[in-house]
Amino acid sequence: MIEAECRCGAVGLEIEGSPVFQVYCHCSDCQLAHGAAYALNAVYAADAVQVIRGAPASGQVRTTPRMRCGACGTHLFTEVAVAGLRSLNAYLLPKEQFAPQFHLHCEDAVLPVVDDLPHYRRLPAAFGGSDDVVDW
Ligand SMILES: [Zn+2]
Ligand SMILES: [Zn+2]
Repeated sequence: MIEAECRCGAVGLEIEGSPVFQVYCHCSDCQLAHGAAYALNAVYAADAVQVIRGAPASGQVRTTPRMRCGACGTHLFTEVAVAGLRSLNAYLLPKEQFAPQFHLHCEDAVLPVVDDLPHYRRLPAAFGGSDDVVDW
């Protein structure tokens, strides 16, 4: 069990167990929502990520419903299109707990991250994609 909170502490989260998977997401929705080149996401079963303090504000940039702290704006988590999953902003985890397994939506990338992980053009087949990869 891990506790995490937004930058101002108004919203607290409790995270139970291990993530289903962890990724770098390069999609344009994450870029706009985070104001960053890509997002660090730790994806859990939805009921493993619970709000234990405060009341997050909900919002949407493009298609993904997102929760953030209404006071400091820290992005907390999104409801993933694949039902039953909740994608935590992995910046909220203790640093050593973020262990990304692959990159998503690389075709939208504005800042390619060259490493030894798989770089999926969109999504891996296991999540409804095609397993196509980009060459960086
Ligand atoms: Zn806050
Ligand atoms: Zn994304």
